[in-house]
Amino acid sequence: MAEKKQFVTILGSTGSIGKSTLDVINDHQDKFVLYALTANKNYKLLLQQVQQFHPRHVVIVDEQAAASFQHEAAQLQLNCIVHIGAKALEMVASESDVDVVMAAIVGAAGLLPTLAAAKSGKRILLANKEALVMSGELLMKTVQASGASLLPVDSEHNAIYQCLPNNFNGQSLAELGIRKIILTASGGPFLKTPFSELKTVTPEQACNHPNWSMGRKISVDSATMMNKGLELIEAHWLFSAPIEKIELLVQPQSVIHSMVEYIDGSVLAELGVPDMRTPIAHVLGLPARLENGVKSLDFVTLKQLDFLPLELDRYPLLKLVYKSLTMGKTAATCLNAANEVAVAAFLDNQIGFLQIADIVEQTLSTCELLPADNIENILAVDARAREISHAALEAM
Ligand code: NAD
Ligand code: MG
Repeated sequence: MAEKKQFVTILGSTGSIGKSTLDVINDHQDKFVLYALTANKNYKLLLQQVQQFHPRHVVIVDEQAAASFQHEAAQLQLNCIVHIGAKALEMVASESDVDVVMAAIVGAAGLLPTLAAAKSGKRILLANKEALVMSGELLMKTVQASGASLLPVDSEHNAIYQCLPNNFNGQSLAELGIRKIILTASGGPFLKTPFSELKTVTPEQACNHPNWSMGRKISVDSATMMNKGLELIEAHWLFSAPIEKIELLVQPQSVIHSMVEYIDGSVLAELGVPDMRTPIAHVLGLPARLENGVKSLDFVTLKQLDFLPLELDRYPLLKLVYKSLTMGKTAATCLNAANEVAVAAFLDNQIGFLQIADIVEQTLSTCELLPADNIENILAVDARAREISHAALEAM
């Protein structure tokens, strides 16, 4: 008998991860069918995706984009149900027909739909690290309570997951016999740029990542090393890992995607060419492996793998991440919100690259923190941190 097809919702289908997910699904239409595709503003790409993949539902958050979409969809006689606004994201993430939710919205906008998927017991493929960073305790508890699964798409976390025992189900590192996790970082576009020159780098330079092609927000986070800080928090929650058991290491080729060291000295690593279709296919297919068009890693051409220590002094945002972890409560929510505001301002040429950290520092030291175990507190601190960050921006 043919296997039942899995119904998939892709939150953020027009983004870099969303497009790569569709690319993998395109080759496996015997296994997956699209339930919903969602976008913020890019209705033109969404139209193309609907024509190719025929989802039952689409959600467009931006009203103007939604009107344009509806107008063109009517002309093309497209047969899908169109929803407008952020609330509908939660609906398509939690509907009973849905099996799998790819959480690939960027930033805090992905939190409520990801939480809705968690509450309704879905298999969640998590790319949207900000959602976990801002609500780690709550999201993990929600997943456990509902029996949902939270599978990492982020390449480092996916690599770590692949290096854990097959029966991994939230046990502690000690129970698994793990000495430490080694989270690798490429170092981003400014690995070799003297610190004094960072003051004047442009958004285009910051978004020009040497190994990965990604959305603009995560590209800037990679350049400031905030991305590794967010990933540190992400690993802490996903693998119940004490922060001091997570080591950061620069691996400039992005070939080793992360490693796990066991107490007997064995180090397991996941390697591959840097292509997000690898972790996406892994979590889509689990426990089976899916073909995805990713090239073989050619060791002879590669010749060598380099490793460098991560110099914390170069990365003020990473220091703020460690600080937020000692502050606890909603400090990570505050940190994330401030970073989102500051990165958007940098991308909009309102502030310089090094001022991103200034905004985050001011916000983290001013914002009142609350217990992080409920959504009301998380949303309140997120909103308050954004107000403080905007005020700090005005004052610059
Ligand atoms: P992107 O900017 O390319 O795409 C973002 C998607 O989110 C788009 O579909 C956009 O329409 C949607 N979106 C943006 N704002 C929204 C809003 N307010 N409401 C609803 N939808 C909104 O981003 P990306 O590079 O694909 O990254 C997506 C997430 O995956 C991020 O959290 C990022 O950190 C994570 N991630 C990305 C990569 C990568 O290689 N791109 C790797 C690891 C993790
Ligand atoms: Mg990553």
